[in-house]
Amino acid sequence: VIMLRQVHLSLGSGAGRVHILKGIDLEIEKGCSVGLVGPSGSGKSTLLMVMAGLERADEGEVIAAGETLTKLDEDQLARFRGRNVGIIFQSFHLVPNMTALENVAVPLELAGDPQAFDKAHAELEAVGLGERLSHYPAQLSGGEQQRVAIARALVVEPQILIADEPTGNLDETTGEQIVELMFEASEKRGTTLVLVTHDLTLARRCDRVIRVRSGEIEPLDLSHEREKA
Ligand code: ATP
Ligand code: MG
Repeated sequence: VIMLRQVHLSLGSGAGRVHILKGIDLEIEKGCSVGLVGPSGSGKSTLLMVMAGLERADEGEVIAAGETLTKLDEDQLARFRGRNVGIIFQSFHLVPNMTALENVAVPLELAGDPQAFDKAHAELEAVGLGERLSHYPAQLSGGEQQRVAIARALVVEPQILIADEPTGNLDETTGEQIVELMFEASEKRGTTLVLVTHDLTLARRCDRVIRVRSGEIEPLDLSHEREKA
């Protein structure tokens, strides 16, 4: 469902321009989970952004959820993201002056769904936050905020769920609960899951693990590794 062929990407301008992705070839089957590990600055987040249609490849081809992203214009890309991709960040990225319910309803309202609030309510119930609908982000714990972010990512029933260090700001126990929730939700719906993590326990939960190293990728067998990536 996600395919990258010889993808190159540079960011920045002038002397600050950096060649970040250097010929990425990658294929991820529908419903599969993939963990991306690798050193800081190696290009993991940039690679996620390319898959999500938030960054454009300079060269090569990107296909996701049946669309050739490299051929879409900005409007088409925005529509692709709204329909097909859910994204979860380390720092939750909730809108501070909206309640949990309003935050989760946003992607549906953007799509003009008349049942936005009913669906958002159901999605918050599903992540165990049925009692926190009218709380603002500042009134929620970190784990609860990340649950809201998961509900918001999943409410449009995306084909692809992308997570950039989703447990990075959480304690170990809360992190494990969040991970369970993410895997459970994606397995139930057949969502393709791509996640960046420094946590090898979390990476091991994935069907495949890939290491990114200075903008290139290599498969990784974690069965003998113990230390942190
Ligand atoms: P981390 O584990 O620290 O999150 P990462 O693997 O996610 O690292 P990226 O955020 O993808 O790394 O960044 C890869 C490289 O690209 C870094 O060296 C970074 O400084 C550079 N970079 C990222 N965005 C830009 C930009 N807009 N302009 C210039 N350079 C950038
Ligand atoms: Mg990153």
